[in-house]
Amino acid sequence: MTDFTYRNGELHAEDVPLSRIAAEVGTPVYCYSSTGIERQATRFLKAFADQPASIHYAVKANSNLAVIRLLAKLGVGADVVSEGELRRALAAGVPAQKIVFSGVGKSAEEMEFALGRDIFQINVESEPELRLLSAVASRMGKTARIALRVNPDVDARTHAKISTGKKENKFGIEIDRAQEIYRLAADLPGISPQGIAVHIGSQLTRLSPFDLAFQRVAELVRQLRAEGMTVSQLDLGGGIGISYRGEVPPDPVDYAQLVKRVTAGLDVSLAFEPGRYIVGNAGILVSRILYVKQGLSRRFVIQDAAMNDLIRPSLYEAWHEIVPVKEPAAGVSLDAVDIVGPVCETGDTFATERPLSPVESGDLLAILSAGAYGATMSSSYNTRLLAPEVLVRGSVFSVIRPRPSFEELLSQDKIPDWLGQG
Ligand SMILES: *Cc1c(COP(=O)(O)O)cnc(C)c1O
Repeated sequence: MTDFTYRNGELHAEDVPLSRIAAEVGTPVYCYSSTGIERQATRFLKAFADQPASIHYAVKANSNLAVIRLLAKLGVGADVVSEGELRRALAAGVPAQKIVFSGVGKSAEEMEFALGRDIFQINVESEPELRLLSAVASRMGKTARIALRVNPDVDARTHAKISTGKKENKFGIEIDRAQEIYRLAADLPGISPQGIAVHIGSQLTRLSPFDLAFQRVAELVRQLRAEGMTVSQLDLGGGIGISYRGEVPPDPVDYAQLVKRVTAGLDVSLAFEPGRYIVGNAGILVSRILYVKQGLSRRFVIQDAAMNDLIRPSLYEAWHEIVPVKEPAAGVSLDAVDIVGPVCETGDTFATERPLSPVESGDLLAILSAGAYGATMSSSYNTRLLAPEVLVRGSVFSVIRPRPSFEELLSQDKIPDWLGQG
């Protein structure tokens, strides 16, 4: 986390003291390091510099237009899972030719929108989806360039809720049926099969599941070729993990070497869809402590960020490092505390019995590694306003999504006339 460091006794984002951001924008607030995001993207790009590879950032990890634009300027494309995300990618300046549309449940309207923009590839995950896409494309007089997303039945050895490549997961076409469906795709009107896609899960911390899955896919490519099918694209998905708690995730250089070994001789163009790897460690959530409450057996640090702002701890039992913004004195004794939010749910807990230096009401905390699946999964549960997002560049910071007002939030609801004026 070189982008968030203590300087002069205070945590900074690049060259900006976090207390300045908190004072100007309020808390809770998401804060991203543009340098951190660029560094990760560049590492990934460099690792594949000697292979025919394109990178499509998985927008769902952090879909702020400014973040997508930052990556687009480095030549990174987009992997989207809805019409909304596709619109975001286009609005941020990603060329349609660099956009992949993934997802298990695309609607006819979404297909029509994607075909109308002539995006690079639609990843198809089932036979009924393939038939619907064929119908939509034919009606529009278009040809959909597709990849078949296969399910290789490989255990990604990650949290069950972010595992996607086992046969009991809803994702992809079982690999044993892939040849048959590929043939069907080649025969259907309005469909041009160009390759195979695979994505076995998120926050992978070892390479072996990738190895196994990619070998199965490579074998499938050889089988399809033997049948005379054209396979020019291999989309190997995302999933490289990050360090939340000292994990040592795969280095992209080793990952790239593995890919090179497994795809040797296949003569295909490669695509990748990293999300978390690019943005995860480059973002934090800054909160302010409201109260320190001594319970019967626990000490609770109640701060103003909650599960609606960052749901990963409650949804995935995720562990996030949490540090005070004011640098603790060296050698200070630590108290075990529960760090919780104000939402009316026991699950609204960021950390349990976590050693923390002494803090008091009014102090700022930084919840680290919150750049991926943080703001994008936030909600206004408990009628709390969505946390604003800030992007830092050296000594400058910009609000890239302001905090909405209560008026804006309430105006989304409509009271029917027949309920009267109150
Ligand atoms: C979520 C997702 C990704 C990104 O996963 P990360 O673990 O964030 O890299 C890539 N591809 C598909 C199809 C996804 O659903």
